[in-house]
Amino acid sequence: MEIITRRQRMSMVTRKLRREEAKTIGLVPTMGALHDGHLSLVREARRMCEVVIVSIFVNPTQFGPNEDYEKYPRDLTKDTTLLADYNVDYIFAPSVEEIYPKGFSTYVTVEGLSNQLEGAARPGHFRGVATVLTILFNIIRPDFAFFGQKDAQQTIVVKRLVRDLAFDTEIVVLPTVRETSGLALSSRNAYLNEEERRAAAVLYRALTRAEQAYINGERSARKLIEIVGAEVATEPRVRLDYVSVNDAETLEKLDKLEDQTALLSLAAYVGSTRLIDNVVLHPARQRVRSMAES
Ligand code: AMP
Repeated sequence: MEIITRRQRMSMVTRKLRREEAKTIGLVPTMGALHDGHLSLVREARRMCEVVIVSIFVNPTQFGPNEDYEKYPRDLTKDTTLLADYNVDYIFAPSVEEIYPKGFSTYVTVEGLSNQLEGAARPGHFRGVATVLTILFNIIRPDFAFFGQKDAQQTIVVKRLVRDLAFDTEIVVLPTVRETSGLALSSRNAYLNEEERRAAAVLYRALTRAEQAYINGERSARKLIEIVGAEVATEPRVRLDYVSVNDAETLEKLDKLEDQTALLSLAAYVGSTRLIDNVVLHPARQRVRSMAES
């Protein structure tokens, strides 16, 4: 495993792998502080690709001015040890100047998908995400790039980015990895104390309550949102930022769920830590499941 910090070296390595060795290259973009959620992406990349590259870069352009960029957990030594066990070929861990050299002035905006949900709560966030992914995709030119369903809107934005700008990269989305309590793994869980961590499990509990109502036939977005709100309200340490039901592809806000696949997503503060989570509501799959149950 080689740790690469220079974009020029990273480009050179991947160009050679592509041209001279015809290898399939998989990229797992991360901000480090790796946990089992990240590692599930690495495992799948290892299964699908001949060469696996994990990028570790806490991307300043996707953080708002009052967000946690400075205090975001960073531990490259620990991350390196973990990735060595997963047979990763390269870690790409550039400095900020390496990604955004002096005079940097070009940004990528995925319009329409970037202004709602997380984009509304975090203005500029997806511009930062789309810009850094464009740079990483251009440096590495991966055949496959791996993302977690945990950041649902990010997966939608990146799929649109790849389609619209004709990147030759296939986006693979993998399920959210959770603690046994249901809490989605997140690098930001490191900010939670023990009580907050326990309290945070209410988020997935609330989402699964609503999902169950959906399986039982509830089709009103307002009702599903109320179910989430009522469950979260049982936990005084947790304050909802938003709960929303959107089309899972266009992110159009839905009132009534019909035949489309829908995304039920939320953001919430647990103490001062902001967490996100979601479930996907599939009409066809739910119908099959409820038929099997009856
Ligand atoms: P981050 O380091 O937070 O930027 O996350 C890097 C990648 O890991 C993103 O594609 C995330 O969606 C994914 N990821 C983060 N948490 C989880 C999780 N609990 N399960 C699956 N994937 C995750």
